[in-house]
Amino acid sequence: MIVTTQKPLDELLDFISTYSNILIAGCDGCTQPPRGLREAKTLSQLLELGGKLRNKNFSFKTTTIAKQCDYYLVASMLKPQLEGVEAVLSLACGIGVQTLAELFPEIPVFPAQNTHFMGAEEREGAILEERCAGCGDCLLALTGGICPIARCTKGLLNGACGGSKDGKCELNPERDCGWILIYEQLKKKGKLDLLKEFRPPRDYQLTGWKVST
Ligand code: SF4
Ligand code: SF4
Repeated sequence: MIVTTQKPLDELLDFISTYSNILIAGCDGCTQPPRGLREAKTLSQLLELGGKLRNKNFSFKTTTIAKQCDYYLVASMLKPQLEGVEAVLSLACGIGVQTLAELFPEIPVFPAQNTHFMGAEEREGAILEERCAGCGDCLLALTGGICPIARCTKGLLNGACGGSKDGKCELNPERDCGWILIYEQLKKKGKLDLLKEFRPPRDYQLTGWKVST
């Protein structure tokens, strides 16, 4: 899932301060926590109140679509709802926001979320934790299934750095040391010899860009 947090209301009010008719577009896709119609309606109520405190009256429409990162869906489902809309606040991750901005260049599209990482729930209903940084050259076969880029604070490919204490990262004692986790996994699998393999620097050409589907 793609993990996001909502931007502060004041930042959102600044985005839309010069417009009156705003569409808040939710996304029912992979954004977590959920950012669908209910969240769009809640946000519209909060912004309406925030607007009144600034002596500004907004008129909000709310909607949601299955995936804001899908050009076809956005073009067919969102376009008809843009009549009279001066600006869009998107509750999707950064990919959805960019899709809307590209498809509707004549309307300002603002992100209502900060997009953080691709993650998983540690336990049901518990904290979301980064698990993959989309590096384009997956190393999990060499690291016991633990991502060194997402789980090591320095993103080291040939860890550990030597600063770990009691299994925690030297840069953030709240975080487990990613390379200790890798060591423990490889030990369980009887594959500690993999730690002796040198992993060359990342090829940053493989990050992002385009792939055929
Ligand atoms: S090694 Fe790269 S692709 Fe594999 S989990 Fe980590 S960031 Fe994602
Ligand atoms: S202590 Fe562990 S997680 Fe932190 S930077 Fe060093 S190797 Fe990476």
